[in-house]
Amino acid sequence: MRNDLNTVLRRVADYAAQYRAASPQRPHRPALSYTEMRERFAAPLPQKGAELSSLVDDLVQLAEPGLGAMTGPRFYGWVIGGTHEAGMAADWLTSTWGQNAGNQVASPAAAAAEEIAGRWLLELLDLPREASVGFVTGATVANFTGLAAARGEVLRRAGWDCNADGLFGAPKVTVLIGEEAHSTIFPALRFLGLGERRIVSIEADAEGRMRAAAFADAMRKVEGPAIAILQAGHINSGAFDPFEEIIPLAREHGAWTHVDGAFGLWARAGKTTRHLAKGIELADSWGTDGHKWLQTPHDSGFVIVRDQNAHRQAMSMTASYLPPSEMERNPADYVPELSRRARGFATWAMIRALGEEGIAQMVDRHCALARRLADNLAEEPGIAILNEVVLNQVAVQFGEDLDAEAADRINRAVIARIQEDAECFVGGALWRGRQIMRVSVINAATGEADIDRSAEAMRHAYRAIRQAGTARAI
Ligand SMILES: *Cc1c(COP(=O)(O)O)cnc(C)c1O
Repeated sequence: MRNDLNTVLRRVADYAAQYRAASPQRPHRPALSYTEMRERFAAPLPQKGAELSSLVDDLVQLAEPGLGAMTGPRFYGWVIGGTHEAGMAADWLTSTWGQNAGNQVASPAAAAAEEIAGRWLLELLDLPREASVGFVTGATVANFTGLAAARGEVLRRAGWDCNADGLFGAPKVTVLIGEEAHSTIFPALRFLGLGERRIVSIEADAEGRMRAAAFADAMRKVEGPAIAILQAGHINSGAFDPFEEIIPLAREHGAWTHVDGAFGLWARAGKTTRHLAKGIELADSWGTDGHKWLQTPHDSGFVIVRDQNAHRQAMSMTASYLPPSEMERNPADYVPELSRRARGFATWAMIRALGEEGIAQMVDRHCALARRLADNLAEEPGIAILNEVVLNQVAVQFGEDLDAEAADRINRAVIARIQEDAECFVGGALWRGRQIMRVSVINAATGEADIDRSAEAMRHAYRAIRQAGTARAI
């Protein structure tokens, strides 16, 4: 039995190393569609168990054609980190050890690694050192958790205990949020009983940044408890809300300020980007991802709350009225779940692998690469860059010389062509009412040669589509 396990795990390790080594050469798109993959996986419920070695082989054989090239250095879809080898290795160990990270008595190692990694995060992101950190699945849940702390605290200040009385009959909480906030914030608010009519949407400028004057006007009109949600890193433009202006305004009115910084919070860790997130440290809570810029494997996000007590009152399973104690930090007191993966190991490993300097260099490099790509594409007649490339995101429009409808059609066709050619992977988005191609440079493996090769593939796809279009028109 042991020998068998040894053989299988070695095979998995060999396969993993080969898969990783081949990632740069692999076509940067899944070979089969979801429908095809469903047929591939379709099978009756297994009646008898299978041998470990054969099921591992089966899984590889079945899954491989339907894998997205997310570990590839020319993958720019959505905003997705590359799952760095160091994080991957730590993740294997995490599964090997089978730790339930919910409490520190059961797994002192998991709790300690998490606590230390949490402190490192506060230093890297230069946030208040007294803040508490919860290890969650991603920014969606990080934002949810930060906003739960916010809701409890603003109601407490208004004389309402929502842990005891819930929201029925509670003072109405107003949520101020930029009109270009990320879509995942809205379900987070819904889970918290803060429905659409509680939300005041604040006008944004062309880059998607909240207008401070519009915020000030809206804030003035608010009566009662309020939460302001700001954004670091707009999904299309990479832009940052004006924290230095907005946070003090919110504070004056006693509002809690939460920042969604899923990837943008990492601008704090770069040397060339730090200024973009100035004033962000004034907020009350922050949500960010490990699996985007920090390159951990997936299911990794962090919620950071300045007031530990507010954090624990929102999330603690047992004694919500206990004062926080440094020595007694129970991982479950800062997140919605009890039993969970020991996420601290992969985070610890990534920070240990890259170091503060390596992380700064990676963030700076990705931003320089995004500008390099934008400059390259802008040289091609008919291609426009729609955003100020301040971070790692590039919003591209093909066919800028055409009317809106034709340009939108061309953009969809070019994206489909780029995906089909599979030299690199990009996705589309609707922004300012127009179809765009969105590029996110956020994989640690991406280098200059990848960027130049991708720009060439994008320009090639664009020319091919324009020529085909012209031929059809004639
Ligand atoms: C990705 C993202 C989220 C959601 O993060 P998940 O890790 O997918 O849960 C929220 N806000 C912004 C700005 C994002 O880019």
